[in-house]
Amino acid sequence: MLIPCLACESRFRPDEYFSACSDYHRGMDLVSWTCPRCGNRDDLRVLPGELGFGYPHGGRFDVHHRVRVPGLRRHRGDLRLDISLDRASWRVPTRIRQPALH
Ligand SMILES: [Zn+2]
Repeated sequence: MLIPCLACESRFRPDEYFSACSDYHRGMDLVSWTCPRCGNRDDLRVLPGELGFGYPHGGRFDVHHRVRVPGLRRHRGDLRLDISLDRASWRVPTRIRQPALH
């Protein structure tokens, strides 16, 4: 199972792909992903059995494109998202947003 970058079409093993996730945004239920190959940054939603790509729209995120990842599971925590596939798992922490300093 290889997962593609939608920008450069490089394909990654799950470990490489999910290790590149950062900053789980719980309100929008999105993780940030930065392609290790081309540096493209994307937001995606981890769903059971698939990844959802799309666009923010009116404070929500509409999924327009899905990439199937059979066996993919997710568990939302308070300040993190746990992703698991087969026997591997990855933890994507929520970056604490500091109030702006004036
Ligand atoms: Zn890429």
